[in-house]
Amino acid sequence: MSEAVKVLVTGAGGFIGSHLVRYLKGRGYWVRGVDLKHPEFADTAADEFVIADLRRWEGCQAATEGVEEVYALAADMGGMGFISAHHAAILHNNALINLHTMEAARQNGVRRYLYTSSACIYPEHLQQVAAVKPLREEDAYPAMPQDAYGWEKLISERLAEYYRQDYGMETRIVRFHNIFGPEGTWTGGREKAPAAICRKVAEAKLDGTGVVEVWGDGEQTRSFCYIEDCLEGLYRLMRSDYAAPLNLGQDRLISINELVEMVAGIAGIDVRREHIPGPEGVRGRNSDNTRLRAVLGWEPGVSLEEGMRRTYEWIEAEVSAARSFPVAATTLS
Ligand code: NAD
Repeated sequence: MSEAVKVLVTGAGGFIGSHLVRYLKGRGYWVRGVDLKHPEFADTAADEFVIADLRRWEGCQAATEGVEEVYALAADMGGMGFISAHHAAILHNNALINLHTMEAARQNGVRRYLYTSSACIYPEHLQQVAAVKPLREEDAYPAMPQDAYGWEKLISERLAEYYRQDYGMETRIVRFHNIFGPEGTWTGGREKAPAAICRKVAEAKLDGTGVVEVWGDGEQTRSFCYIEDCLEGLYRLMRSDYAAPLNLGQDRLISINELVEMVAGIAGIDVRREHIPGPEGVRGRNSDNTRLRAVLGWEPGVSLEEGMRRTYEWIEAEVSAARSFPVAATTLS
């Protein structure tokens, strides 16, 4: 590359965004990162990192100035505990972020814009059994997502499609299915199931109790995709000429109970699961990767065991460090 292409990553202080900045730097891009906060677990790899609130128009205008491409990851989000308890704030904040960022990108002449949607857009009634049929992209309509988080994602998907049709901005839309890995939130209320399970198993190991709490009966199912595969898929989609929404995830279905046992095996302990009431989300969810394979000529390859091993090792070290330096840990969460 003679002169590096300039790209913007929004949500660059978050889990996927901070990894994506590093990935794009590795590919020779000049990267601006924008977020409300700096990454929590490592210094950013961005050439420029701007602290800004993307709910505000001025923040979006400045963030999208002078860049050719935008990876739009900023969102007010978390795991089921967070999503099921903050409907109004999520819909309000994320709608503002996406309306303003997309329009500012258009006004600043951005050529390519990748919007990160979610498997949470799929209708609740297609996800009511644990042995669920994998979700195809066209299953999104007629729409009936479970939560405000999914509704907002669906509207912003439409917005991206209309910006492409009406203004010629090349938009891409990815629907993530449970991305996990090191350097993601693991405590504090916004953590998602894989990180929460790793933390609980690490605590059970370090405390010697062997007890792990699970929300509900633990028979609810999901598929989980490792961060390295997520980055590769994101990049391939951005470079492709495919503009319709595309699933990005693994298509291996596993129950929460099975995931707990897998992590306990990695930690080298026996655990006793204690089932307690809690938000469980849909009963089952899996990705149909037929279109992903056809469009990108690729699919996620890191095994769940390998991804969970790397994630568990990182989280166990974090839990241990937090116990050794409790003051520093408080400021982290
Ligand atoms: P994350 O919470 O770690 O990162 C999101 C970042 O957006 C955070 O750092 C947050 O501070 C930032 N943000 C929130 N409000 C902002 C604002 N007003 N202005 C600027 N920045 C703001 O989440 P993540 O897991 O990295 O997810 C990235 C994207 O992928 C999100 O859009 C999310 O909805 C989507 N997604 C993630 C998953 C997953 O499994 N992680 C699944 C489906 C969809």
